[in-house]
Amino acid sequence: MGETFIYPDPPTENVVMGSPVDEFDDSAREACGVVGVYARGEEAARAVFFGIYALQHRGQESAGIATSDGRSIRAHTEMGLVGQAFQEYDLSRLPGYLSIGHTRYSTTGSSNISNAQPIISKGTSVEIALGHNGNVINALELREELFDWGLSFESTADSEIIAHLISNAPADNWSDRAAYAMRRLQGAYSLVIMTVDKLVGMRDPLGVRPLCIGRLNGGWVLASESCALDHIGAEYVREVEPGEAVVIDDDGLKSVYKKSSKGSFGNCVFEQIYFSRPDSILDGTLVYSSRMAMGAELAKEFPVDADVVIGVPDSATAAAVGYSQESGIQFTEGLVKNRYVGRTFILPDQRLRELGVRRKLNYLPQILEGKKVVVVDDSIVRGTTTPHVVKLLRKGGAKEIHLRICAPPIISPCHFGVDLASKDELLAANMSVDEICDFIGADSLGFLSPEGLMKSVSGNKSQYCMGCFTGEYPIPVQLEMDKLVLEA
Ligand code: SF4
Repeated sequence: MGETFIYPDPPTENVVMGSPVDEFDDSAREACGVVGVYARGEEAARAVFFGIYALQHRGQESAGIATSDGRSIRAHTEMGLVGQAFQEYDLSRLPGYLSIGHTRYSTTGSSNISNAQPIISKGTSVEIALGHNGNVINALELREELFDWGLSFESTADSEIIAHLISNAPADNWSDRAAYAMRRLQGAYSLVIMTVDKLVGMRDPLGVRPLCIGRLNGGWVLASESCALDHIGAEYVREVEPGEAVVIDDDGLKSVYKKSSKGSFGNCVFEQIYFSRPDSILDGTLVYSSRMAMGAELAKEFPVDADVVIGVPDSATAAAVGYSQESGIQFTEGLVKNRYVGRTFILPDQRLRELGVRRKLNYLPQILEGKKVVVVDDSIVRGTTTPHVVKLLRKGGAKEIHLRICAPPIISPCHFGVDLASKDELLAANMSVDEICDFIGADSLGFLSPEGLMKSVSGNKSQYCMGCFTGEYPIPVQLEMDKLVLEA
């Protein structure tokens, strides 16, 4: 077992960052993006850097990379975006042909450096670095058990529990470690794990979060989404199957374990609607194509007499194109997004506050003037943004605004790694569709039906989790679980 270097020491000024100021962000937030590279002759940390850079949309709070040159594991984690967290100097201190990386949004545990990943765990069984995307729902119970084993915790994230559980598993090979982890963990976990000389990928038996495999110059890559493979010049091979563990070393890739889900699956359908990038492939289909199909279904379910179709950029653009093609109503851009807006901790003053959503979006007045407009958006969560978008479009001169949402109403929280808000905060859990339409100030409103959504996505329809739309989850969950539950 090699020596482990972890730097830098947690900078005290970054320990607690509080909540970013963003009253006009009503999006559902994803848990994380993960990448792993095993490629002799490559600077693996550099490839991982560009991999997590491509997955920035999955988490903007912290980023980290761990590497090994076959002798020792080194790691660097930092708060902020991937491009802020790493400079050339940081990468130069991460040598080796084996590396994993992580970009984080917190769904369990607060936003601070101690919760940044990869997490290093030196256990009785093996030393590992681990990156996790998902949410484990029996984390509290497992942590109590690990306390009884005499283990202590440096973070308040469920991912550290997974790391300790695996590194201390009563096993001496990866097949047995995976079997043990999958027996004990409940919920969502797509994992990239490295030892000093192996890369391991593991996906929960429900397959809630994605994880795919690619090839890079004779080596191998694991990534949350295939767009990360494209960005580093790797070729897509296949997904890690739900319940599968793969081990990569100089002998190639071996599938070392496969747990049956006993017919129950839980691929998150929100990956298709919003989280995954449109240029990623999920279940063999380009996400952009699935979103176009959602727009086409919306046009069939909620036709309207209108002059133009626009999407709320960028996530609803593909669905707006689909609506346009199905309805024959011309697609155009009516809103422009400031693509360089990140999360900020600076409070706007009163005058800027009154400009509201315009810090992020602006309208195209000559395009909208006097028009009946179909506006396609991906989802309504708390309803904090949509009324401002409608007001903005009216200001831009739209005569009528017909809002079409390419997801069913969200009526229940998520317990598998997506920060959707509590039931009290979810607009559709507390209002009828007509009431929502009045509240946001649109002329009409249509949500895609669950059946329409299922027609739009590829694969077997029973493989998807629809919990936030139906309140029925693929496994029993403790309702209203607090994301800071491990901080008590
Ligand atoms: S509850 Fe919703 S957001 Fe959560 S995994 Fe299921 S479909 Fe995805």
